[in-house]
Amino acid sequence: MTEQTAPKSPVTTEQFTNEIKEQLKYAQGITVEQATDADIYVAASLAVRRHLVDSWATTQKDMVNGSTKAVGYLSAEFLMGKQLRNALLNLGMLAEFDDAVKALGHDPQLVVDSEYEPGLGNGGLGRLAACFIDSLASLGVPAFGYGIQYKYGIFKQEFDAEGKQVERPDYWLANEEPWGHIDYNRSQKVNFGGQVVEEDGKKVWKPAWSVRAVPVDYMVPGYKSGRVNTLRLWSAKSYDEFDLLTFNKSEYLDAVKPQVEAENISKILYPEDSTPQGKRLRLEQQYFFVAASIHDAIRVFYPGQDKPDLTTFPNKITFQLNDTHPVIGIPELMRVLIDEYGYDWDTAWDITTKTFNYTCHTLLPEALEVWPARLIGELLPRHLEIINEINDHFLEELKGLTRDKERINRMRIVTEGDDPQVRMAYLATAGGSHVNGVAELHSQLLKDVTLRDFSDLFPKKFTNVTNGVTPRRFIRLANPRLSNLITEGLGTDKWLSDLDLLQGLVPLADDPEFVKKFAEVKHANKVAFANFAKDRYGFEANPDTMFNTMVKRLHEYKRQSLKILALIARYAAIKNGTINVDDVLPRTVFFGAKAAPGYYMAKLTIQLINNVARVVNNDPDVKGKLAVHFPANYNVRLAQHLIPATELDEQISQAGKEASGTGNMKFALNGALTVGTLDGANVEIREKVGADNFFLFGMTVDEVEDLYEKGYDPAKYYEADPRLKMAIDMISNGAFSDGDRNTYAPLVADWLTKDYFMTLADFTSYADIQYEIEDLYRDQDAWNRKAILNVANTGYFSSDRSIEDYLERIWHTGPLA
Ligand SMILES: *Cc1c(COP(=O)(O)O)cnc(C)c1O
Repeated sequence: MTEQTAPKSPVTTEQFTNEIKEQLKYAQGITVEQATDADIYVAASLAVRRHLVDSWATTQKDMVNGSTKAVGYLSAEFLMGKQLRNALLNLGMLAEFDDAVKALGHDPQLVVDSEYEPGLGNGGLGRLAACFIDSLASLGVPAFGYGIQYKYGIFKQEFDAEGKQVERPDYWLANEEPWGHIDYNRSQKVNFGGQVVEEDGKKVWKPAWSVRAVPVDYMVPGYKSGRVNTLRLWSAKSYDEFDLLTFNKSEYLDAVKPQVEAENISKILYPEDSTPQGKRLRLEQQYFFVAASIHDAIRVFYPGQDKPDLTTFPNKITFQLNDTHPVIGIPELMRVLIDEYGYDWDTAWDITTKTFNYTCHTLLPEALEVWPARLIGELLPRHLEIINEINDHFLEELKGLTRDKERINRMRIVTEGDDPQVRMAYLATAGGSHVNGVAELHSQLLKDVTLRDFSDLFPKKFTNVTNGVTPRRFIRLANPRLSNLITEGLGTDKWLSDLDLLQGLVPLADDPEFVKKFAEVKHANKVAFANFAKDRYGFEANPDTMFNTMVKRLHEYKRQSLKILALIARYAAIKNGTINVDDVLPRTVFFGAKAAPGYYMAKLTIQLINNVARVVNNDPDVKGKLAVHFPANYNVRLAQHLIPATELDEQISQAGKEASGTGNMKFALNGALTVGTLDGANVEIREKVGADNFFLFGMTVDEVEDLYEKGYDPAKYYEADPRLKMAIDMISNGAFSDGDRNTYAPLVADWLTKDYFMTLADFTSYADIQYEIEDLYRDQDAWNRKAILNVANTGYFSSDRSIEDYLERIWHTGPLA
């Protein structure tokens, strides 16, 4: 018998069927006979939501009355994925849902598919925020996720006839969205522009215009905790004439932003991930959601109080800044405390620094966000004054800590000169209690390189919290077959809320019966993905080949180009007989990746991958041996389908460039082996699973640094490895552009002359390790043993563990009693 601890459904199938019918009738005005899959989806979602409401209300009440401090996770992105099945899992209603929907004459899968994925994030950073709020709720810690309800999420990716990326707007709210509750009665006013005047010796900001921030609330159910937290996303509206009548006219008459302009603020998610954009609208977005959130927290924790004692604010809530996007919150809280509540500077600074903490997600110094002071002054004149004052106080403090004038100068929050810049990462480091990187290696590099001066003078501020992923979505929902096998193997389903229990699978890696079952699960997942792919994308994938996957944003540092060059080399070797066709291990390669619309090289790489796929898949010489597929529009849903079916996962960024990665964790937990560099969390994954169970290749961080220093000449590597030369020559000669030699010339030129991320230098070791990979794969039992050890030893990468580390090292709080 296996121990079952999963939540028990609050309703029978019959009751749930009736609840769906009620929603159809009273909320939607539709009969069961008329109902489409999409109608059933809306009705079922509304019915499910009702089962969360009581816990939601008690969680909020306990939070406000409670003895424990709440967490406010401030993030410009939340890449949530679909909601319905996650809510069903947390309520223990997955089976009741399936049966009820069938009883109503519908296919549960089609009903689930009717949900449109909210794409309110670019990639890893936004998905991390989503995993974290899941874990906070599951650990019973009171928390708000605070962000933006973008009208258009990350673009929908399509490919044109030439294989180029085409971006289509993602109007995700085109159909009824049953999860978000628009709470017009709890809106906040957010001001912009104007000037600062002195009145009675006090600074008074006279803004030029305001917008109305309306919260849209999503319930965030915890797994087995009985707690339901809130994701509060702000939507920008204009103050209309009705509001004008109710407010003081003289104050508001010219203060109203025309509707279209006001609503622009929350209109689009910026399709960028690591490069800053000097976009005014982006700064407006950042201030908009952070200002609304800070005022919201004061409203929530000091209800109805005109003169709250805000010295207690850091005991009520701690704000985590997910990268620099919300850092304008630091001067905003200072402004609120000083201008709105009358605190003196020192008291306000004490409250502010105790309230904020900062997570840094980058390493490249040039990717650290910087805003021109001039722009901040135009949009937020009072904030610029406060930032300058913070800078002055900070420089004074530094003079007490060091005599090194150059160092002090390097650490300025506001740079000197004609066009001063505000460094948001420095502001965050000075204005908060803790700074953390997102993997051991990354945190070390932050201290040694990126924020070195700060770490030397404030060593206690710096810490590490290695990222994680939620096992509920990325194992239980994505991979029910493996979940059942794990539960069977461990004799309990407790692992879903205590992922270290996966360790109990270690001995089973040597149990032939278990290995056989594991192999069956993987094969069934491959068949399921092949069916899904045929249905959804129209391509045939052969489940009897190795499934090899590289999915993540397209970026030069992630080095999709390394994968494609090795793939072309392999294709050429089969074609020209360097490798005997009969010796080739059949492999199917999957890519998934969006490129930022303005990122030329990334988009050209997408075009190349699509055309390599076209040529390879239509070449009878390699039929059955090599296939390449690039399903468009990589998102959370595709991740949930493809990761469980993958056997070999690619994490091949240049060492020192990927802060952590979370895709790597999802794959290992689903029993894929990784081929990867010593970068980001790969380092820790390899430590946990053991060097024997990880395909390591490529240069280390130190070797990369040495090579930069020595002077890197990529052409040397092109000449040295005939496989690489062959691959690049084929591209140059038009093998993937119908003979046209110009199409990929910019890529080729970059590789041969610049190659900043040293793809060519790592090519040989990457191509060589493929033989090792294929040899192991031929021994399926040996492969599966290692794959099981990957699952068993990566419980550490649960986002529950990440959150526990934040609680202990940074937030100093815990679950509600
Ligand atoms: C996990 C995830 C990512 C992050 O992947 P990395 O390989 O860590 O860059 C990006 N997008 C989606 C949809 C994800 O689920």
